[in-house]
Amino acid sequence: MYRVPRGTSDILPEEQASWRYIEQKVANVCQLYGYERIDAPTFEDSQLFSRSAGEGTDIVEKEMYTFQDKGGNKITLRPEGTAPVCRAYLEHGMHNLPQPVKLYYIASIFRYERPQAGRYRQHYQFGYEAIGDDDPALDAEVIDMAWQFFLSLGLQNLSLQLNSIGCKQCRPQYLARLKDYYVNYTRQLCPDCKTRLNRNPLRLLDCKKPSCQKIANSAPRSIDYLCPQCDEHFNQLKKYLDLLALPFVVNHCLVRGLDYYTRTVFEIQPEAEGAQSTVGGGGRYDDLIEELGGKPTPAIGFAAGIERIILNLKRQNISVPALPRPQVFIAYVGNEARGEAIKLASTLRRAGIGVIEAIGTKSLKAQLRQANTFGAHHTVIIGEQEIKSGTVILRDMTTAEQKTVPISELEGLLK
Ligand code: ATP
Ligand code: MG
Repeated sequence: MYRVPRGTSDILPEEQASWRYIEQKVANVCQLYGYERIDAPTFEDSQLFSRSAGEGTDIVEKEMYTFQDKGGNKITLRPEGTAPVCRAYLEHGMHNLPQPVKLYYIASIFRYERPQAGRYRQHYQFGYEAIGDDDPALDAEVIDMAWQFFLSLGLQNLSLQLNSIGCKQCRPQYLARLKDYYVNYTRQLCPDCKTRLNRNPLRLLDCKKPSCQKIANSAPRSIDYLCPQCDEHFNQLKKYLDLLALPFVVNHCLVRGLDYYTRTVFEIQPEAEGAQSTVGGGGRYDDLIEELGGKPTPAIGFAAGIERIILNLKRQNISVPALPRPQVFIAYVGNEARGEAIKLASTLRRAGIGVIEAIGTKSLKAQLRQANTFGAHHTVIIGEQEIKSGTVILRDMTTAEQKTVPISELEGLLK
C-alpha cells in the first residue's frame, strides 16, 4: 500500500468546506484593501531562495527541497512566498506601476521539517505583499489587514506581537551587543543556539526552549538600538496602530526566520499555545528587492498558514458553511424508465439543478435509501406508468409525501 509522503496530507472532500471558506475570506479581505492575486510557479531557481532568505537560516540550511532537473538546472520547491512575488515584481517591471504594488497569493509551501501537529513538509500559505513604499502607514495597514482577516474568520483570543529590528545602519551595533551578552551564557544555551550565536544571533531570541527563553528575556532589546529614522518609523507605526485600536504588544524577543526582514516585524498568535502556535507573521523587507537586482524598493508583507488557521477554527468550535451539493435524486423502476431517468437528469442539470442519478440496478427501496444517504431533499421517481402519462413522482424526503406531477412542470417545481 502506498501512503502520502511523511509530512504531507490529502485534503479530503469533508475538509474542503473549511478550505473554500478561508479562500473566500481571503478574497474578501484582499478586495477590501486593494490587493490583486498573483500565482507564481511551484519551483524556482534555487538561488532566488538561498540569496533572499539568507544562507544561515533554517530554511536554507536544512529545509529546502532542492534538486537538479534533467537540464542540469538547480531547482527549489518554493519554501516561502515572498521571494517569488519580488522576482515577479522585477521581472514584469512592476516598478513602473503606481506604488505600492499590492499582491496576494495562496500557495503550497515546501519545507523539510520534523512533522508534528501544525507543522508539515507541504503546507499552504495565504500571503500578501505591498511593494514600493516605506511609509509606516503602510505597515499599519498591512497589520490591520491581517488582524481583520482573522476577525472575519470569527477567531478569538488572538494576540498581536510587534517589534522593530532596525535596518542596515543600526542593526550591526545591536547584533554586536547581543553577541556580547550571549557570550556570558554560552554554556547554558541549547545546541542549536550555540551554533546560531555566530551566524544568526537574532534567532537566539526566539528559541522555544524555556532555558533559552529565560536568557532571551533579559537580552538587549533591538528597539533600544534603533537609528533615529528607524525609531521615528516605529513610533509612527505604534501611533497609527493605536488610532486603529489594534491591541498590539511589543515583544522584544520577536524576530523572524528569514534574514531579509528590516524594521517592523509582527506575528499573530492564539493565546496560550505551544511552539506551533503562530498562525501568521510578517514584516518589512526594505533591502530584498535591491538584493534581487532591482532598485532600492522598500516593501512589507504577511503570510499565514492555512492548516494552522483550520486547526484554530476547530479548537474554537467555529463551524463553516457547508458546500452546496445536489438536492435532487432520480430513481427509476424498469429498463425503459432508466433511459428516461438519464435524459431527465441531464435536462435538469442543464437548467442548473444539481442531480444525483441512481446508478446500477437496485430495488426502488434501495434507491430511496441511497437518496437519503446523499442527503437529497427530493427524489424524482420514474416508472413505466409515469412514462406513459408523461409524469413523474416527486417524493419529499423529509415528510415521505409523494405526488404525481407532469414532467413539464418538474423543473419549475424543483427550482
Ligand atoms: P514557525 O516559527 O512556526 O516555524 P515560521 O516563522 O517558519 O513559523 P513563516 O515562514 O513566517 O513561519 O510562515 C508563515 C506561516 O506559515 C506561519 O506563521 C505558520 O502559520 C505557517 N507555517 C510555517 N511553517 C509551517 C509548516 N511547516 N507547516 C504548517 N504551517 C507552517
Ligand atoms: Mg519555521
